[in-house]
Amino acid sequence: DDTRQMVEDYFRTGTLAGLPDRHFIDGEWVASSDGGRMQSFDAGSARAFHDFAAGSVGDVDRAVDAARRAQKSWGRTRASERGRILARAAELIRAHAGRLAVAECLDCGKPLQEAEGDVSGAARCFDYYAGAADKLQGATFPLGPNHLGYSHHEPVGVTAHIIPWNYPLSTAARGIAPALAAGCTVVAKPAEQTPLTALMLAEILHQAGLPAGVLNVVTGTGVDAGAPLVAHRDVRHVSFTGSVMTGVSVMQAAAPAVSSVLLELGGKSPVVVLADADLDAAVEGVLGAIFENAGQICSAGSRLVIDRRIHAEMVGRLVDRARQLTIGHGLRRPQFGPLNSAGHLDKVASYVDAARDRGVEIATGGSRTVDPASGAGWFFEPTILDNVARQDAVVQEEIFGPVLTVQVVDGEEEALEVANDTPFGLVAGIYTRDFGTAHRLARDIEAGQVFINEYFAGGIEVPFGGTKMSGFGREKGLAALEVYSRVKSVAARIEG
Ligand code: NAD
Repeated sequence: DDTRQMVEDYFRTGTLAGLPDRHFIDGEWVASSDGGRMQSFDAGSARAFHDFAAGSVGDVDRAVDAARRAQKSWGRTRASERGRILARAAELIRAHAGRLAVAECLDCGKPLQEAEGDVSGAARCFDYYAGAADKLQGATFPLGPNHLGYSHHEPVGVTAHIIPWNYPLSTAARGIAPALAAGCTVVAKPAEQTPLTALMLAEILHQAGLPAGVLNVVTGTGVDAGAPLVAHRDVRHVSFTGSVMTGVSVMQAAAPAVSSVLLELGGKSPVVVLADADLDAAVEGVLGAIFENAGQICSAGSRLVIDRRIHAEMVGRLVDRARQLTIGHGLRRPQFGPLNSAGHLDKVASYVDAARDRGVEIATGGSRTVDPASGAGWFFEPTILDNVARQDAVVQEEIFGPVLTVQVVDGEEEALEVANDTPFGLVAGIYTRDFGTAHRLARDIEAGQVFINEYFAGGIEVPFGGTKMSGFGREKGLAALEVYSRVKSVAARIEG
């Protein structure tokens, strides 16, 4: 099939023909105003495979200007028509699924089957907001017989979307689809490591009938392209997904324009496994929670909080399974892929090296490794650190890699205390057969989303976002439409 041919071509030539390599502004491919270029790297082989436009303030200004000019007419387009364009985009995402997945796999390094899952999730996201576009309704207010009060939702205006490298297509989709559904225009800035699928998505939406200027994509670094975008005076809202440190500076940069801000930041999410849990389900859940995408997931379950009575058995089973995971280049569909960049591999390795030096117990993994087929690539072994103390850095700080920490507790009360004992609050997992315990913990755990007896349960229908240092604002679900619209209220005297 198509995908197999692309994979063969890539391994033969070290690149892939026809990948987008310029900004997408006002319906056209454009080079950087200053001619800047930068390279994309294939993490599975540690080699450059593509180069693309490195944007700066001139490109950002041009994109925001296009979005501002397109805003009025897009905002007044019938919601059902906006929905039709999104639905066509969903179909086109499915039609181009193979190419999108291969591009995402190369840019991120992740296993191809995971990239394929991201692509079908993106199509589903566009379907969802296609159906939601004309369901955004206002209200009337009881002002008495002489007055009429009502409200409707207006689009916010030009929105900026800053996208990270771990889920480039999914994150682009979950911001762009509701923004377009609500009648906003968009300037998106993908991460400099992973520009491809946001550009491909812009082309797809254009093919689906989106007017020029409604969706623009500027590629480049955070400093040169991201910073001028989030500070732009004509941007009315910024959706940022990335690290806490950058999120803080984005919020500050957006303040002078009084833009609203949504921050999806890091996590250190607990998976609480109590003594009565279904251990088979818990083992599966924890493995996926920390080793999917090599742990480079904001909502990774990176802390196992485990009842002492089942600790030895659970860790033993996790270690066995972690050692069996097949490692390799993403395009070979391994169970476990590389980290996204050399710099990120260094960061993950330094956390584990420092923990080893402090005497933290390494139950399995703990070292850099390579793709066994080529002897290259930026890999770090699936790693489990056992019996870690509550204040240890590997428990308190986000590593964003395949490193599970294990914290041993005695019963529900201590589990809750340990689960909440980090600065983050993105998601949490709970494994227990007791209905009351599950929902008590779900109530009391500080997190924006809780999974019970299946980690990553849910879908586009369920609102997602953080508390504490993990950020604020909700994406996904109907909640996302509220991010991209403002209530306008009207009160009139109608007495004759
Ligand atoms: P990062 O903050 O370094 O970069 C994220 C994006 O911000 C990139 O596009 C980057 O170019 C841009 N950027 C950098 N500096 C900027 C600036 N000054 N102004 C504007 N934009 C700027 O994060 P990262 O290391 O690429 O991503 C990993 C982090 O993202 C992790 O902390 C992870 O938890 C978090 N994340 C959160 C979610 C979520 O939904 N909560 C999802 C994915 C990733």
